[in-house]
Amino acid sequence: MKKTILTGDRPTGKLHLGHYVGSLQSRVALQHEYDTFIIIADVQALTTNWDNPDQLAGDLHEVAMDYLAVGIDPSVATIFVQSMVPQIAELTIFYSMFVPVNVLRHNPTIKTEAAQKGYNDMNYGFLGYPVSQAADITFCKAHLVPVGKDQAPHLELTRQIARRFNSLYGEVLVEPDAMIQPLLKDLDGNTKMSKSIGIAIYLSEPADEVLRKVKTAVTDPARIRKDDPGHPKVCTVFAYQKEFNKSFAPELEKICKKGEIGCVECKKRLAAALNEMLEPIREKRTYYESHLDEVDDILQAGTQRAISVGAQTLAEVKEAMKIDYFG
Ligand code: SF4
Repeated sequence: MKKTILTGDRPTGKLHLGHYVGSLQSRVALQHEYDTFIIIADVQALTTNWDNPDQLAGDLHEVAMDYLAVGIDPSVATIFVQSMVPQIAELTIFYSMFVPVNVLRHNPTIKTEAAQKGYNDMNYGFLGYPVSQAADITFCKAHLVPVGKDQAPHLELTRQIARRFNSLYGEVLVEPDAMIQPLLKDLDGNTKMSKSIGIAIYLSEPADEVLRKVKTAVTDPARIRKDDPGHPKVCTVFAYQKEFNKSFAPELEKICKKGEIGCVECKKRLAAALNEMLEPIREKRTYYESHLDEVDDILQAGTQRAISVGAQTLAEVKEAMKIDYFG
């Protein structure tokens, strides 16, 4: 029996290199080894974009096309839409009975996100989305959840919910483990590439736009002239070269320190490496952009499988809670 992985994204538009490094490449690598469920968490997106639902359908397709373009194989991985799996909503309600409100209020991720969005008060859905996330993870009895460090508190809550449920009602749920994923810095040196802060390079970005964005990247501030000795350790471009141009990075480290390469040349080489990596992704994505019906078929088939897996878990949950009144 394969173990199960649950992973996914809120549909908020096209995915970028931060998603690629932080999760997509490991999903592609692990999809044959694990029973992989990939959730497009549209209900979670509604917790902050409830007033703009028109955008959701478009964003959902953008995310799905990026998944397929990077190499997620729908014949082995189950890509599904959260709001179309009613069992997740039902599990959310049952779990919410034994999660104290103060645990949610003091959740560090919730507090940080609320501060970033300038919320004085939080809507009920936003405050409770870690509970909904616990339902996303446990409906398919996931053993592993790839997360960034910033999402770790949510997973801890899922683990607590699973433990609490099992101790109250009997062993039904699986307590998932975190698989901590690397973070990619933004090109301007922020700690995490993000759509809302700094400069994000999208997986579907045209080649000339990739070059334009890379040219704006922050480098070693101590380097004024081309032949000044560089400090690759503090340079964002070097961090990218290590990630996306692995064969060149060791040589670059030496010649940068000796002042034998200029930052302009270095950035051009990074952009070239990125474009070489992104070209097949762009090509595949272009295909799906003109075959949206195929994307819909894949999402519907994945969602159907998620529904049948969720129905099995929900039946076990209801039986354990003794609310399966009529058998
Ligand atoms: S040469 Fe490259 S690694 Fe060295 S400081 Fe310039 S951009 Fe950074």
